[in-house]
Amino acid sequence: MNLLDLPVPLWGETLSQYGEVPYRGRQISHWVFKKLVTDLSQMTNLPLSSRALPPGNLSFDLPEVVTSETSVDGTRKIALRLHDGPIIESVLIPRKGRMTLCLSTQAGCGIGCRFCRTAAMGLIRNLGVSEILGQWIEAMRLLVREGWGEREGPPIDHIVFMGMGEPLANLDVLIPAIRTLTHPDGVGLSPRRITVSTSGLVPKIDLLGRANLGVQLAVSLCAPTDELRREIMPVGRVYPIGEILDVCRRYPLRNRERVTFEYVLLSGVNDSREQARLLGRLLAPFRSKVNLIPFNPFPGSPFGRPSDQTVALFAEILAGFHITATVRKSMGPDVLAACGQLAREHQTMVHALEKGDPST
Ligand code: SF4
Repeated sequence: MNLLDLPVPLWGETLSQYGEVPYRGRQISHWVFKKLVTDLSQMTNLPLSSRALPPGNLSFDLPEVVTSETSVDGTRKIALRLHDGPIIESVLIPRKGRMTLCLSTQAGCGIGCRFCRTAAMGLIRNLGVSEILGQWIEAMRLLVREGWGEREGPPIDHIVFMGMGEPLANLDVLIPAIRTLTHPDGVGLSPRRITVSTSGLVPKIDLLGRANLGVQLAVSLCAPTDELRREIMPVGRVYPIGEILDVCRRYPLRNRERVTFEYVLLSGVNDSREQARLLGRLLAPFRSKVNLIPFNPFPGSPFGRPSDQTVALFAEILAGFHITATVRKSMGPDVLAACGQLAREHQTMVHALEKGDPST
């Protein structure tokens, strides 16, 4: 059993089952989350007997970093190998004095959004809690090695679940991972600084709301009509836009918080003035903001990126409906780290071969 798979408040109780004193849990979690040390032998305030071997069959195994690429804009894409072979990616995005970490929740993804490179991998498997937290630990180690944040507190101050995978398709793991990310004995990040992005799995949005984690919700809408949404996001065949808006209305928000609707702008597909007006009418009565994401092309993608003028006009039309629309700057496109670009080529091929795709 990997101790990192358990919510951090249970560490003491778990360790006491192996003959350790209950406060050992807090001591060890301090080493892991505050000092980024996962090797027991280096936890110098533990008695020698506790440093020798993990109690019972407990481990602290993490995914292994295989590559780290840095974009000209400072964005870093980190590739990590899971213990059974699949490779996942996380992205560190420095922007406007913030450091955001974009985390993966699955190896590949089974949702199949047509504008997303991860979709071509298909779903390989869900990640475990330790594999999600491991991405944070390795990203922190990388930043600390570079001398980040020594005087200014933890270098990573925002987390978005927008990497590989549909986070809500792995909700049973996502919830304990967020609990450790927000617990004072864990990472200790405010839940307001964590955003979960979903393709719109309606029943799971309800469950996320009921878990009362206090995290921000972002939903990929990407079309103003069900007909178009079904074409570019197959999940639209299961959950129509009306149901998505209803569940978002029920999502618990604090004062001044709003649900974010993400809208990937695809040239000639969903970026016309009429489509902007339709979206405006749809969202005007709603407490929301819109994040416009000009499509980030990747090899073999069937879509194009709209011009800056088209994007600006789309945002302007939404503003006419009193909707706050921000345009997301592409970060790291030269290392394929921008939104929708995460994937591992060889995994895509292996997956397609397993499915018997003769074109591979
Ligand atoms: S956009 Fe998200 S949900 Fe859609 S295929 Fe890509 S990773 Fe999956």
